[in-house]
Amino acid sequence: MPDSIKNIVCVGRNYVQHAHELNNAVPQTPLLFTKPTHALAEANGREIIFPGDRGQIQYEVELVFHIAREYELGIKVDDLVDQMAIGIDFTLRDVQTELKGKGYPWVLAKGFINSAVITPWQPFPGLKAMMNFDFSLDKNGQEVQRGNIKNMIFDLPTVIEYTAKHLGLGQGDIIFTGTPAGVGPVFDGDLFSSKLADKELGNCIIKLSK
Ligand code: MG
Repeated sequence: MPDSIKNIVCVGRNYVQHAHELNNAVPQTPLLFTKPTHALAEANGREIIFPGDRGQIQYEVELVFHIAREYELGIKVDDLVDQMAIGIDFTLRDVQTELKGKGYPWVLAKGFINSAVITPWQPFPGLKAMMNFDFSLDKNGQEVQRGNIKNMIFDLPTVIEYTAKHLGLGQGDIIFTGTPAGVGPVFDGDLFSSKLADKELGNCIIKLSK
């Protein structure tokens, strides 16, 4: 994993069917949160360790984009983004439900160690070309999620502009852009394979700690 990654910005509820499956309202503006860089782990075939004593963990497959340079107002996505990956935004769902109920920040549910798993980086093919490629997640050889950038509620230019305006955006930042429907639980020993256009870009095996 390159040490050069600076900020990890994530978008919640950015696909209609996923918002509905968790009984959440569709947001009016992008719903942003961040993860610490300690959350990063590469999906390179290795075992990834998660807490086994914090309730249910769920997978959320997402397109992830790497920012190449400082944001300037009006810059085109194709000039700002240089690489992409498939990420899994792992979530301690029971913890998140409890935090949401209390009106507390999500960070303990979303920012735990190894919770931002990403495949090796690929060259960004351009925003238009991205629409030709579905991304998907297989769990133990069975497809569990499939999405396409076309179906985002807030498209990538909007997410970028909104992030830059409110949080700042520059070289080395990455953005998880939200998950399509089909999220579900993680069990000890699960094998996750992240795909772009049905080609595996990376995989990992989950080990739950005792
Ligand atoms: Mg997510």
